[in-house]
Amino acid sequence: MDRKRLLGMTPTQLKEAALAAGLPAFAGGQLAKWIYQRRVTDFSAMTDISKSGREALASLYEVGTLSPIDVQVSGDGTKKYLFPVGENAVEAVVIPDEDRRTLCVSSQAGCKMGCRFCMTGRQGFHGNLTAADILSQFFSVDDAASLTNAVFMGMGEPLDNWEEVKRVIEVLTSPWGLGWSPKRITLSTIGVLPMLKRFLDESRCHLAVSLHNPFGEERFSMMKVEKAWPLRDVVELIRKYDFSGQRRVSFEYTLFEGWNDSPRHADALVRLLKGLECRVNLIRFHRIPDFPYGSVPEEGMEAFRDRLTRGGLTATIRASRGEDIFAACGLLAGKHKSK
Ligand code: SF4
Repeated sequence: MDRKRLLGMTPTQLKEAALAAGLPAFAGGQLAKWIYQRRVTDFSAMTDISKSGREALASLYEVGTLSPIDVQVSGDGTKKYLFPVGENAVEAVVIPDEDRRTLCVSSQAGCKMGCRFCMTGRQGFHGNLTAADILSQFFSVDDAASLTNAVFMGMGEPLDNWEEVKRVIEVLTSPWGLGWSPKRITLSTIGVLPMLKRFLDESRCHLAVSLHNPFGEERFSMMKVEKAWPLRDVVELIRKYDFSGQRRVSFEYTLFEGWNDSPRHADALVRLLKGLECRVNLIRFHRIPDFPYGSVPEEGMEAFRDRLTRGGLTATIRASRGEDIFAACGLLAGKHKSK
C-alpha cells in the first residue's frame, strides 16, 4: 500500500492523520513541529511521540520529501537540482547572492502555456505538482535551512496550479510552518487572469508578470495566453491593488533582437504602465534551438532601459545567473538525464 505524504498538510490535516493512526489529536501539532520546524523526516526520531505511535504513523504515512537525482553547480555558485516526480523530473535552482539565497521553484512538470521562447513550454505538459512535490524542493536542497527567498519562476505556470501553490505559501508563511514573511516570496505568472485575482486576494506575496511585448497581437504570436487573457486586462486588474507599500509588482521583459526591442516598444510600455508603482526587469535572452530571434547586445539593452527611465518607469537589467548550467530564465527543461 502506498503511504500518504504528510508534507504539505496543515495542522488540521495532520491532526486527522494522527487520529487515523490512533494517536491523540495534539500529535498533529507535534508532527507539524517535527516536519516543518525541525525538518525531521524519520518518524523514529520524533521522540515526544510514543514508540507505538511512531510505528503506527510509519505504517500509514511518510513525510514525503524527495531526494534530488542530479545536482549541477555553476561557476557563479548557482546550483541546479533535478527532482523525480512520478515519471517526470523537475528542476529547482538555488541562487546565492551576497546575504541572500533564493530558491527558484517549479510548480508543474512541463507547462500547458506553450510560450514559444521557453524550453519548458516546448516540452509540453506532464502534470501538476502537489504541495508535497513543491515543498520537497524547499526541504531537499543542500542550503535548505539557509534559504532566504523563493521565486515561483521555475517550470510551469504557478497560477495554473493555484490550489497546491497556495498551500505551499500557507506552509511557508504560517507560524506553525516555516514562519516566512510573504515579502520573501515572489510568484511569477504570464497572467492567468481569474487565478491572478485569487492570488492577489488570497496572498500578500510579491507579483512578477511576464510581459515581453506591450502590443497584443505581437505578444500573441509568442504567448498564446494573450488570446484568453489580454495583457491590458491583466494590467487593469493589477491597478486595482495597492503596490505602494510592502507588496511589490514587477514586469519581466525579455529582449529579443528585432521583435520587441524598438523605441516604439519602449514607448508603448511606458504608456501601458504609466502611474503604476512597479519595476520593469529587462532580461537577456539566451538563444535556444529553432528560434528565429537572438539576444540584444548590451548597448541595445541599455538604450531600451534608458528610454523606459526617461519615460518615468523604474527599469533594471537583470543579471543572469547559472547560464552555464542552463538554469537561467526560460531554460529549465527538466528531463531525466537518461532521456
Ligand atoms: Fe509556461 Fe512560463 Fe514557459 Fe510560458 S514561460 S511556457 S508559462 S513555463
